[in-house]
Amino acid sequence: MGDVAANWQAVQGRIVKAAARVGRDFQGIRVIAVSKTVPGERIQEAIEAGVTDVGENRVQEARQKIEVLGRGCRWHMIGHLQHNKVKYIFDLFDVVHSVDSVDLARVIDREGRRRSRTMEVLIQVKLGGEETKSGLEPSELLTTLEEMTLLPFLSIRGLMVIPPFFSNPEESRPFFRQLRQIREGIMSRGIHGISLEELSMGMSHDFEVAVEEGATMVRIGTAIFGPRTL
Ligand SMILES: *Cc1c(COP(=O)(O)O)cnc(C)c1O
Repeated sequence: MGDVAANWQAVQGRIVKAAARVGRDFQGIRVIAVSKTVPGERIQEAIEAGVTDVGENRVQEARQKIEVLGRGCRWHMIGHLQHNKVKYIFDLFDVVHSVDSVDLARVIDREGRRRSRTMEVLIQVKLGGEETKSGLEPSELLTTLEEMTLLPFLSIRGLMVIPPFFSNPEESRPFFRQLRQIREGIMSRGIHGISLEELSMGMSHDFEVAVEEGATMVRIGTAIFGPRTL
């Protein structure tokens, strides 16, 4: 077995265990294999090992890979999306994790209208204060979501967070918990047309904690493909 296949199995085993610790069904957790900087052959290996969802953070890089690998797996856009790249996303991605403004949501909706296609999106939330990461502030989330429900070619499926990096994964836990609580708060208000089932949170160093806190999508690069060299 190649290293990618072995890593993939190890990651799955760890997810099964983390889910069991909190009484969750591991089948409710989707692993996004994050393949930025990873060459196509390694991604193909992962797909052959059973990976069904692949994540990229740059449109151009994703485009080159998808041309070769095709869309037999689900492709996720997990990085910041520039407005001028939105015209490509419907041909490339199944889900965009990183909608971080109403303006971006509107541009996606407009492109969807042109093509009569709906894009599944997650809303990126900024937790952790002075970090320069993109995302909506929790305080502006509710009004923003209400505006976004008026965009028919956008299917808002959930929330996404990238907490600050901590070497101790336990330090990520409050951020994951906060995202789940924000989701629950919004769901309890029952905004028409929004269900927010998905929580995209957890990376190689902290995905088990994220699973314990309710992640439905974990975005894992290094633990599957090894350290990035670029
Ligand atoms: C790179 C990246 C990941 C995966 O990071 P690893 O630490 O390699 O697992 C997850 N999410 C986003 C948004 C990323 O850019």
